[in-house]
Amino acid sequence: MSIDQKTLINAANILRSSRFTTAHTGAGISVESGIPPFRGEGGLWDRYDSRLLEIDYFMENPAKSWKTIKEIFYDHFGKAKPNPAHLVLAEMERKGMLGRIITQNIDNLHQKAGSHNVFEFHGNSQRLICLHCGKTYDVDEISLDHLPPKCSHCGGLLKPDFVFFGEQIPSEPLNAAYEATKISDVILIIGTTGEVMPANQIPFLAKNNGAQIIEINPKESHFTNTITDIYLEGKAGETMEQLGKILFPASLDNDHDSVNQNLKIHGQ
Ligand code: NAD
Repeated sequence: MSIDQKTLINAANILRSSRFTTAHTGAGISVESGIPPFRGEGGLWDRYDSRLLEIDYFMENPAKSWKTIKEIFYDHFGKAKPNPAHLVLAEMERKGMLGRIITQNIDNLHQKAGSHNVFEFHGNSQRLICLHCGKTYDVDEISLDHLPPKCSHCGGLLKPDFVFFGEQIPSEPLNAAYEATKISDVILIIGTTGEVMPANQIPFLAKNNGAQIIEINPKESHFTNTITDIYLEGKAGETMEQLGKILFPASLDNDHDSVNQNLKIHGQ
């Protein structure tokens, strides 16, 4: 699927002249890194019962929940690498073209790509939290050989530090997201259906405040025919790579450039 060059140039011009751009990313941005989305064709809910991420179910069945959570989020996703979409966003941040990323993803790939201003609406799978004393661990510090894993400090149950169904969104990303709706003149939506509340409200609130909406998704979402101004119908990695070539052409020709370096480091 190739996107018409005029539409890409139009999107690049809006991004270049923006005062403050916020990227709003969902599971689709990581599909080309090998992480399936929840919904749609090949989505996780085709293979797994979504109940396993309900907090009440987890509390009642920690060992059973952990067995599947380990299989999905740690045996497989842990090895995923950022794709060109994550890398171009990181380069945009370095070049002052991107103010912040509000992500619904829990895969840590924005940070792995080099982005700093990342607000995780739904937490991060690479961190575990003790439900008794609140101590957090990097997942690499904890053995997942015996499930459920326990806190080495107090013996409490460890839970992945991402938001389960039935849990509240942490206040820091929530505040950052609502602030972004006021200060952003461009929202770049990448790979989200717009079905998950309250994250799906962010682009609508920003639009109400006058922001322009650019959207990348191979399929139409709840945003496409309601608030999207420029729809780039395509995969995140492929589309962002093309956008990156327009946004920083010299960089991509220069062997020492960080995007190229990153693309090499990550073997893309
Ligand atoms: P979703 O699973 O509901 O939908 C995925 C969206 O991505 C769809 O609109 C689909 O058309 C689009 N898509 C598929 N392939 C794409 C590609 N190559 N490039 C761009 N877009 C593509 O995802 P969502 O709306 O973000 O739902 C959010 C929930 O899913 C969140 O709660 C999030 O925590 C969770 N989730 C996160 C991950 C992750 O961290 N990578 C993975 C699965 C689910």
